[in-house]
Amino acid sequence: MPRNAESTAFRSALEVIRGVEPRVADAIGAELADQRESLKLIASENYASPATLLAMGNWFSDKYAEGTIGRRFYAGCQNVDTVEALAAEHARELFGATHAYVQPHSGIDANLVAFWAILADRVEAPALKRAQARHVNDLTEADWFALRRELGDQRMLGMSLDAGGHLTHGFRPNISGKMFDQRSYGTDPATGLVDYDKVAETAREFRPLVLVAGYSAYPRKVNFRIMREIADSVGATFMVDMAHFAGLVAGRVFTGDFDPVPHAHIVTTTTHKSLRGPRGGLVLCGPELADQVDRGCPMVLGGPLPHVMAAKAVALAEARRPDFADYARQVVDNAQALAEGLLRRGARLVTGGTDNHLVLIDVTGYGLTGRQAEQALLDSGIVTNRNAVPQDPNGAWYTSGIRIGTPALTTRGLGTAEMDTTAELIHTVLSQTSAGVGPDGTTSKAKYVLDPALADKVSRQASELLTGFPLYPDVELG
Ligand code: PLP
Repeated sequence: MPRNAESTAFRSALEVIRGVEPRVADAIGAELADQRESLKLIASENYASPATLLAMGNWFSDKYAEGTIGRRFYAGCQNVDTVEALAAEHARELFGATHAYVQPHSGIDANLVAFWAILADRVEAPALKRAQARHVNDLTEADWFALRRELGDQRMLGMSLDAGGHLTHGFRPNISGKMFDQRSYGTDPATGLVDYDKVAETAREFRPLVLVAGYSAYPRKVNFRIMREIADSVGATFMVDMAHFAGLVAGRVFTGDFDPVPHAHIVTTTTHKSLRGPRGGLVLCGPELADQVDRGCPMVLGGPLPHVMAAKAVALAEARRPDFADYARQVVDNAQALAEGLLRRGARLVTGGTDNHLVLIDVTGYGLTGRQAEQALLDSGIVTNRNAVPQDPNGAWYTSGIRIGTPALTTRGLGTAEMDTTAELIHTVLSQTSAGVGPDGTTSKAKYVLDPALADKVSRQASELLTGFPLYPDVELG
């Protein structure tokens, strides 16, 4: 592709959009400018390739395609079949899975598909068998009532939120917490690591139907072989949500006991984080759960998004290339360099470092809450997000942590030397920020004091750091 093809494609698209609603075209242009300028350390974000982005903006968006490949409830889905089959094939090959379902619109949706596939397999199917019915519509009112109660009376064991688990793993504000009776496992207070003996003990006591592993803010590897043994010991279905680290699995950084695919009954992921694809989700499983997973739409999903499935096919094809493995390795090297740079300067890190793409700074070491630290860094051109730390004294809103991740900056080409500079910038801001005072004279959890001149200086240094690593270098909007 000629170097200017990407510029031409995006420029032409903006011109067409500008002809209808110029403010949208302007916002799209402004978003690119903002992304180019910010030092993005949000662990769950990345930059998808121009090919992936372009695959989403087209007439596939117009098509309804409820059903699965070759079995649709709508006519004329032959081209959707092509892209869905390609995305599924790439996903199976990339992750070594028997079955891939690429319709979920997001990570939450992928988890819902998985939960209902497990419930259908473990609760609904046996109930139908007992009632000698083929379909839920064939059940008597009494049997249907009993089944609905049974579906709502199942247990899930997942990682606690403050240890790094995700809201969709059975927590009350999410529908998963309203569906399941949930209990959590945390991490060892001394080491910050998953305590497998404790997980096994809790599983023995609680006897969950589903054991969930996976996290949003745990900076270490999880041994999925041990987790599977625990699940087997209590007859639980073992599910892994690899939304955050799918890119590290795809890039063969996480292998053996740390690759969830050979060990879990079912694996879910987002496609837009370390995997670097479009916003979306997918589910991987063996033949036992495949039929139930394929019922995701219309069970819990709205009609598939064929334009996003096309983009998933492109991104997954990219992830199968050898250079994606180099990328994944670099993501971890960069996270480790960032962690070392912070530790050397005196920062306190949860678990003392990282094995993956993210680092969790305990900002109470700087006398700050997560909220104060997040805002002070943002004022200084560094985009991160606050996050709870284990046994967080400041709760889930203010928090005591800052989560930083390297997938996005690694896509831009920054390496370990730049991570050390990034550590210096973060440490400078956090060590020069202090907690403010609230209206009643007490120390505030939200207000903070940071010299604006220092914030400006760090912002300039952050921009300078990025100048050598242009984002979408072949895209010029003019
Ligand atoms: N699962 C995990 C572990 C996540 O970290 C996230 C998002 O942050 C999700 C699921 C939800 O993904 P989405 O925002 O695409 O629904």
